[in-house]
Amino acid sequence: MSEHSMSRRALLAGAATIPMAAGLGFTKANAAGHAQGPQIPRVNRFGVGDFEVTTMLVGSRTVEEPQTIFGMNVGADEFAAVSAEARIPVDKAQFFFTPTLVNTGAELILFDTGLDGAATTQAVEMAGYSADAVTHVVLTHMHGDHIGGLMTNGAETFANAAYITGQAEFDHWSGTDNEGFANNVKPLAEKMSFLGDGDSVTSGISAKAAFGHTPGHMTYMLDSNDQQLLILADLANHYVWSLAHPDWEVRFDMDKAAAAASRRSVLGMLAADSVPFIGYHMPFPGVGYVETRGDGFHYVPHSYQLLL
Ligand SMILES: [Zn+2]
Repeated sequence: MSEHSMSRRALLAGAATIPMAAGLGFTKANAAGHAQGPQIPRVNRFGVGDFEVTTMLVGSRTVEEPQTIFGMNVGADEFAAVSAEARIPVDKAQFFFTPTLVNTGAELILFDTGLDGAATTQAVEMAGYSADAVTHVVLTHMHGDHIGGLMTNGAETFANAAYITGQAEFDHWSGTDNEGFANNVKPLAEKMSFLGDGDSVTSGISAKAAFGHTPGHMTYMLDSNDQQLLILADLANHYVWSLAHPDWEVRFDMDKAAAAASRRSVLGMLAADSVPFIGYHMPFPGVGYVETRGDGFHYVPHSYQLLL
């Protein structure tokens, strides 16, 4: 997803708010006292083989008129029917922003940096680490909600980290005059290393090209002690609309046909191999499985499989 979808101020307000209820418009009182509003957990940890994996909610926001973003190429009736079947409204959607920490035992690797440095630092601390403990920052792609936390007040948020991203992604944005890239990525370019499809971040973590959302968007496969999990990033951004109908056009997909083809290919692999995934914009904690259903896919949220 891209920061262009909403005002930056609104995003930052959502990111910094604790509890995360401010954007939810939920203010009923009850007889027992003040209503507290919805409460979403912010940190969720589980295992993948010998890796410890933590998803962190750094922002959440209610968005109106979601069909201006998802299912742009289908009629309102079809959008309404698919939404009703999944028991979600058509006039509002809840967005989530979920960076992931992977502790391999030797490294502490942060996948994507959220909307701003302060909110992500706070989430990292809630997960039990300091920002200085992060050894590597991996950028799946360079939309503002993924690179916005790289810098805090002009300084590196993760001062001891090495930076890793896709070569094609970096090459694309360095040929534009994008403000987010100029402010957050360019100052760190000298310290970055660049990956292609199949290259490794470290032992047991490899990049997999999934182009379309952006020209160099990559997912990352974790593989430890016979368990796997795919960090899906923005390959599919809604747990119903993007999975049930991978061909529905998404406003933030820069190449809509390539994004749809990547969705079909990657989701098909996850379903066939029963590999769990983390979706950056999926309902928190953002972890689930995919099964095939009809011409598309169905989201099966993680329960306890990765806790055992
Ligand atoms: Zn995004």
